[in-house]
Amino acid sequence: MDLISRRNILSIAASGGLLTASGATAQTAVPQPERPGHGGTEPLERDRQNQDLLVPPSTDHGTLPNLRFSFSDAHMRLEPGGWTRQVTERELGVSKDIAGVNMRLNVGGVRELHWHKAAEWAYMLYGTARITAVDAQGRNFVDDVGVGDLWFFPAGIPHSIQGLNPDGCEFLLVFDDGDFDEDHTFLITDWFKRTPSEVLAKNFGVSASFFGHTPDPSERYIFLAPVPGPLQPSNTAGATAVPRGFSHRMMAQQPIKTKSGTIRITDSGVFPVSTAIAAALVEVDPGGMRELHWHPNTNEWQYYIEGQARMGVFGASGQARTFDFQAGDVGYVPFANGHYIENTGTTQVRFLEIFKSSYYADVSLHQWLALTPPELVEAHLGLGAEVMKGLRKGKTPIVPA
Ligand code: MN
Ligand code: MN
Repeated sequence: MDLISRRNILSIAASGGLLTASGATAQTAVPQPERPGHGGTEPLERDRQNQDLLVPPSTDHGTLPNLRFSFSDAHMRLEPGGWTRQVTERELGVSKDIAGVNMRLNVGGVRELHWHKAAEWAYMLYGTARITAVDAQGRNFVDDVGVGDLWFFPAGIPHSIQGLNPDGCEFLLVFDDGDFDEDHTFLITDWFKRTPSEVLAKNFGVSASFFGHTPDPSERYIFLAPVPGPLQPSNTAGATAVPRGFSHRMMAQQPIKTKSGTIRITDSGVFPVSTAIAAALVEVDPGGMRELHWHPNTNEWQYYIEGQARMGVFGASGQARTFDFQAGDVGYVPFANGHYIENTGTTQVRFLEIFKSSYYADVSLHQWLALTPPELVEAHLGLGAEVMKGLRKGKTPIVPA
């Protein structure tokens, strides 16, 4: 939609309608921050992307913290081989346990050999990449990953990522520490720069004259290098492979399917090395909704890949708040808070639920009621026979089921 100044919107709205591109008059095209008897008028362009913040459902109440931050609002670090941006505790204050990075590597672009204190989990959003790692037992790992593939590097394990033909890659990184900073990792060029040449000479058993000309760390980090050829056994000749692979094909998993969408759950049960992060990839069709539920183990950190959605979060003590989401947004649900995610658009919503945990777990409101003695449920809610007999004992993550 074109940018329309707030004054124009007000004058158009006051005249009773908004002219569409075809010249027809669309009634009530501009939502106003009002409910009958409450509110007033004053919508900005940005407000219209956040209709449930602008006009909160009347069930919203209290002061839940901000539970959304968009990568589009984060600082973009541009480098010769690509770009990177991050949503950490600094951007999304409520997230103490998880930070996210969105990175693009152009073809040949390398995220420099490095390591860090946090564990790193990744989801490939676009293109293909080659990833490498070596573990503490001296075993190595090299693999090519594509859209929908995951990787997991345990804390302290050195690794690299490189964009492959034809157009590099883009991916989401998730770290098990909200305070993680992608700009403060242990870079290989940095260590060489900060180590006397004589020490490097002794370490590698060669003359000191071979050292002292290492590129400045600011010239690496994300830099362009020759695109490697196809993956071959000779790439890892003479080495022992890690016993539990650091990558996983999430899309090869058989999803849980309902009439309105799918969910693929990947935790250490199917991706054994991923002991710090569990995840679910959720697809919700138009009109569908990720059902009312909560997680009994930990907070939920979300990344919206495509589509439009709203999430309502219930925080006990009469508190509830609703947020709108689109591609590139991060969402957050504090531990044990009840929530739903509803597709509010005309296309499929795809998002990731991510947990700092070795296992995935959720509790379904629907299933809870179905498996509790009906007289007891009736005594609480007085739902009536029609609702009670429709309760399903099986779990239905996406509804209508
Ligand atoms: Mn890393
Ligand atoms: Mn959830």
